Amino acid sequence: KEELNIIQGALELRTKTVEDVLTPLSDCYMLSSDAVLDFCTMSDMMQSGFTRIPVYENDRSNIVDILFVKDLAFVDPDDCTPLKTITQFYKHPMHCVFSDTKLDVMLEEFKRGKSHLAVVQRVNSEGEGDPFYEVMGIVTLEDVIEEIIKSEIVDE
Ligand code: ADP
Repeated sequence: KEELNIIQGALELRTKTVEDVLTPLSDCYMLSSDAVLDFCTMSDMMQSGFTRIPVYENDRSNIVDILFVKDLAFVDPDDCTPLKTITQFYKHPMHCVFSDTKLDVMLEEFKRGKSHLAVVQRVNSEGEGDPFYEVMGIVTLEDVIEEIIKSEIVDE
């Protein structure tokens, strides 16, 4: 039964898209680029439990960087380091994908290993004005794997 589920999940990777599995922007734990790494911000971040945290400028839909919690290993909360100092030092590449990317293609991209988190965007052509890129959320390798095994992976 379990094996059948996995086979079915694997077959569905070709039809499902990242839009079906993403974490919506409204649910993302993010930081503003002008945040200061004081005790309050750092403990909140640790409590969120996430490994990677998108960093936005002005508006939550304007993701400009990804902070890895491990980047904070040498940061002392008493120094109140500006978040920008850290993101500019590490400059992790940001990986963007379109919402209609099929999950098998997404899995291949994740396997190539540049990053296991991607920012999902779509072209919004509704309304009067010109079409524009709109950020919908984030997708990680775990979201794709959950789709294969068809069950939630409970976080550590
Ligand atoms: P982590 O290593 O931080 O637990 P995973 O890659 O294992 O992240 O993903 C676990 C789930 O959490 C996935 O559904 C993913 O979309 C979601 N996720 C990852 N980072 C964040 C974040 N910063 N805010 C909200 N959800 C996130």
